[in-house]
Amino acid sequence: MSGVAFVLATANPDKAEEVRAILTSELGDRIVLLERPLEVAQVEEIGETLEENARLKAAALVGSTGRAAIADDTGLEVAALGGAPGVYSARFAGEHATYFDNVAKLLAELGESEDRTACFSTVAIAIFPDGTELCAEGVVEGRIARQPSGDGGFGYDPIFIPIEGDGRSFAEMSSVEKHALSHRGRAFRLLAARLAQQLG
Ligand code: IMP
Repeated sequence: MSGVAFVLATANPDKAEEVRAILTSELGDRIVLLERPLEVAQVEEIGETLEENARLKAAALVGSTGRAAIADDTGLEVAALGGAPGVYSARFAGEHATYFDNVAKLLAELGESEDRTACFSTVAIAIFPDGTELCAEGVVEGRIARQPSGDGGFGYDPIFIPIEGDGRSFAEMSSVEKHALSHRGRAFRLLAARLAQQLG
């Protein structure tokens, strides 16, 4: 193995693929990304902020594998809902809510509200076995559509329209188009730049 090995916390294959593509395009063979070992349980996301949850996930992996680890946490903040669902985005409609349930609840709570301003934020964190930590945040501003459109992406993508785009929802974009603008694309490009400095 030539580069520094990091275990990736995410078990979601789409997210892992995307994160892998960004980090390897920025860092080449200075980094080797390993999948989270199946026997290592997911941590409970009990933090009150995205940063706390990302740190909990990365630190747990460092503790159980003894290797450096990379984790992230994402939330959608809707202005007219006082910033909800935020850190609770995955379980907005309940503990075992599906993406469909969460989207339906968000549209119902927003109703006919004229203020549809929202943003996605991702915090990405790398932690080394000696405790060194690098952290990066990515944000994309947008608005919540009145109804879902598109079948790409996942989660709230069918109802999120980025203001820097052309009026299409994230679910109507290719993944390359989405991640040129997306919260996660931005967070991981920044984390990659910080890792590049750290690794020399
Ligand atoms: P996680 O922290 O990446 O697991 O994201 C928490 C929740 O936010 C997910 O369950 C999704 O509902 C939502 N989410 C995260 N990233 C995205 C995205 O890129 N598009 C749409 N929804 C997302």
